[in-house]
Amino acid sequence: MNVTSNLATVVIIGRPNVGKSTLFNRFLGSQVAIVQDQPGVTRDRFERQVEWQGRHFNVVDTGGWMPGGTELDSKVSRQVESAVKEADLVLFVVDSTVGVLDDDQAIAKWLRTSGREVLVVSNKVDTDKREFDKWEFLSLGLGDPYPVSALHGRKAGDVLDEVIVRLPRREGDDREEIKPDRNDANRTPGVPRVSIVGRPNVGKSTLFNRLVGQDRSVVHDMPGTTRDSIDTSVNTPDGPIVFVDTAGMRRRSRVDESTEYYSFVRALRAVDESDIALLVIDATEGITGQDQRLAERIDASGSPVVVVLNKWEILNADQRAEIDIEIGRKLFFVGDAPVLKMSALTGKGVQKLLPVLQDSIEQYHRRVPTRDVNRVIARAQQQQPAPSGGRVLYALQGASDPPTFTLFVNKELPPTYLRYLERSIREGFEFGSVPIKIRVRKRAE
Ligand code: GDP
Ligand code: GDP
Repeated sequence: MNVTSNLATVVIIGRPNVGKSTLFNRFLGSQVAIVQDQPGVTRDRFERQVEWQGRHFNVVDTGGWMPGGTELDSKVSRQVESAVKEADLVLFVVDSTVGVLDDDQAIAKWLRTSGREVLVVSNKVDTDKREFDKWEFLSLGLGDPYPVSALHGRKAGDVLDEVIVRLPRREGDDREEIKPDRNDANRTPGVPRVSIVGRPNVGKSTLFNRLVGQDRSVVHDMPGTTRDSIDTSVNTPDGPIVFVDTAGMRRRSRVDESTEYYSFVRALRAVDESDIALLVIDATEGITGQDQRLAERIDASGSPVVVVLNKWEILNADQRAEIDIEIGRKLFFVGDAPVLKMSALTGKGVQKLLPVLQDSIEQYHRRVPTRDVNRVIARAQQQQPAPSGGRVLYALQGASDPPTFTLFVNKELPPTYLRYLERSIREGFEFGSVPIKIRVRKRAE
C-alpha cells in the first residue's frame, strides 16, 4: 500500500519559468533530513512528502509538465489537470518580476472554475522592496498573494505555515510528530534539555564548543530516534545538561546548515524537544527580522528563553548602547528573558550562562504552595481591587512546565486586570522570563 495515499496533497502550478521547481526544491531540498523518500513514489513523478510543523503532506511539482507558449487554456496538459483535480490545495505560482501575463489570467480563470482551494504565490520577491509587487496579482481574483523568494528561501516558512492552515486534517498526517516519541526515547528524567538556536554564523557552534569544552566531559552522543537529531549530554558543576539536536555543531563545515531556511526548520524542532531555548544573536548585526521570527516561535512554543548577544567584544560603546535599546524594542514579547552579553570566541562572559540556564529550568518546573499563591493574590487585590466588584476567591498552581495558575473568580475580570495579577504572581515568585499561564474559572461565592 502506498503510505502517502492518506495524506493531503498540494500541487504547484504556474506558467513556465515562474519558479515552480525552485519552490518545490525549496520545500524539499533544504530539509533533506526531514523529507521521506516514499516507496513507490519515484523522483520523476515529482511528488514528495514534506513535513512542516509536525504535519505531513504530499507536494506535486508540475514544473516539467506545463507547456510554454501562448493560448494556454487550450494547452493545459491532462497531467496538470488531473493533478489539480486531486489536489487539496493548489499553489499557483506567479512571477512578481514580470507581473500578470495573459497566461496567468488563463490559468486563473481555469482555476476559479476548478473548485479547488488556491493559494497565489508571488515568487521572486527577493527583497523587502519587491513586497509591493505582489498586489498586482489580486487581479487574478484568487485572494491575497503570498510573497516568497523560492531561490533564497525568503518567507518560504510563511508560505508553508499558510499551507498547513489551509490543508484539511487527515488521519496520520501527524503520525511522525516528534514530540511524544522522541522525548520519551531520549529523555532522562530530571535532566534539563537545552536547544541552542539562532541564524547561521551567529556563533552557535563556537558557543557549544565552549560549553562542552575540555573542563567538562561530554558523556555521550545519543543518537535520536530519527536520523537528524543528536543529543549531547554534558556534565556541569550543577549536574548534567542535555543539548538537543546539536548534530553537526561541533564540526562547523556542514554545508546544509548554511541556509537560513534549513536551520529555521531545525531550530523549531529542537525547541519543541527542549525545556529551554538559548537564542543566540550576532550583536554586530543587531536584531534582525529572522531573529525576531525565531524569538516569536520560541515564545509561542511556551519554552522559556535565554537570549545571548554574541560577539560582544567587537562592539564599541555606542553600538552596545544601541543594541540595548533595540532589544527592548524588537524582542519585547520575550519580556523578562535574561539577556547575556558574551564572546563565545574569547570565552568572556560565557561562565554566566550555565547558572542562568539552571535557574530558568528550575523556575519552569517549580511548584508554588497554594498558601503562598493566595497570599500574593490577596495582597495584589488589596493594592488594586478589580473593577465593579470582581474578585479572585481562591487561587492555586494547577500545573508546572510551564507554571500554570488557576484563579477562581466570582465574575469575569477584565484582561488588563488579569495581566496585573499575572505580573503580581511573576514578581511575587520571581519567575523571571519563564512563561506562566493563567486560567480563570468562575465560581459562585
Ligand atoms: P519553473 O519552470 O516554473 O519550474 O521555474 P524554475 O524553478 O525552473 O525557475 C525558473 C528560473 O527562475 C530559474 O532560473 C530560477 O533560478 C529562477 N528563480 C526561481 N525562483 C526565483 C526567485 O525566488 N528569485 C529569483 N530571482 N529567481 C528565481
Ligand atoms: P553558527 O553557524 O551559528 O554555528 O556560527 P559559528 O559558531 O560557526 O561561528 C560563525 C563565525 O563567527 C566563526 O567565524 C566564528 O569564529 C565567529 N564567532 C563566533 N563567536 C564569536 C564571537 O564571540 N566573537 C567573534 N568576533 N567571532 C565569533
